[in-house]
Amino acid sequence: MLELLNMTQAELGELLAAWRQPAFRKKQLFAWLHQGVPFEQMLNLPAALRERLRAEAVENAVSVLDTVSSAIDGTVKLLYRLQDGNVIEGVLMRYKHGNTLCLSTQVGCKMGCAFCASTLDGCVRNLTAGEMLGQVICANRLLGQGERVHNIVLMGSGEPLDNYENTTRFLRLLREPDGVNIGLRNVSLSTCGLVPQMIAFAGENLPVTLSVSLHAPSDAIRRTIMPIANRYAISEVLDACRIYIEKTGRRVIFEYALIRGVNAAPEHARALASLLRGMQCHVNLIPLNSVPERGLQGVNEREVAAFKAALEERHISVTRRREMGDDIEGACGQLRRKHIAAELNGLPEQ
Ligand code: SAH
Repeated sequence: MLELLNMTQAELGELLAAWRQPAFRKKQLFAWLHQGVPFEQMLNLPAALRERLRAEAVENAVSVLDTVSSAIDGTVKLLYRLQDGNVIEGVLMRYKHGNTLCLSTQVGCKMGCAFCASTLDGCVRNLTAGEMLGQVICANRLLGQGERVHNIVLMGSGEPLDNYENTTRFLRLLREPDGVNIGLRNVSLSTCGLVPQMIAFAGENLPVTLSVSLHAPSDAIRRTIMPIANRYAISEVLDACRIYIEKTGRRVIFEYALIRGVNAAPEHARALASLLRGMQCHVNLIPLNSVPERGLQGVNEREVAAFKAALEERHISVTRRREMGDDIEGACGQLRRKHIAAELNGLPEQ
């Protein structure tokens, strides 16, 4: 089946030309697809074309399998099914400044971070650009009339820069004025720090907010929780960030999950501050979402406050990330794992 959402308007035009359709049809079809409208309701297209589309293509290769809503803050966890039966997940957060959707970029992940649930079964496959966009379109449909997704964070399962071609294609499709039309100012891409891809990405003219999962003030500590730290030193990651800042004029965000006994002591805050001194950046402190399989523990509020104060004293811009959907399996990959486990055991999900 043809995955139309994966195509640019020009590529749709080539397909339709081969089907002997006039050139103006590509814009009509593109707009309908990005609105999430089924073929049979694309009423300005001739019936014969709609019929052929239904026989040879899919509108959206992603469908919503299940949703879980938080009773606390209206956050919705989404479980999606792909055409090949794989399952991925995402989160829709309702902030005052708009709706933010957290997207997955791969089925699973191969980066192996010690605190993360997404990587427990490795990476099954990359998502296509169409499957990333498909998640946005599903969320827009779920929000309904008059509401839509405003902000995108590539912080679900997967390492976006390990799926470079599809991720950059997705970002170009996302900002198409005839499509969902989300500007790249409203997009954050999070990476564990794949240095060559970060440098290449700086040259793509796709000025999203770059978030880097740092999680440690030294290579020695970082290597104990992030296998990628054996490949690239923090100094190389920071150099790649400086290139990104220079090329895009945007500050970089460093994500730092506080883990008891690993990276959360006052001396770690001091080391982090000297590492980042003078950089155009912001630190996002993330309370660790405990993943039972991982056996790592977060820290208490007092410790978060002390860590934050130590950075502030040294003039590092820092916030503590708000926890959303605390009652609905917050950590990436957890809901998907629960679904797979229930399916394997033939049990209903709880
Ligand atoms: N692969 C990318 C994006 C996906 S993870 C990356 O590594 O950045 C999005 C963010 O959630 C990353 O900062 C990641 O380190 C963090 N994260 C993963 N598991 C977590 C957990 N259990 N608690 C808190 N943050 C976690």
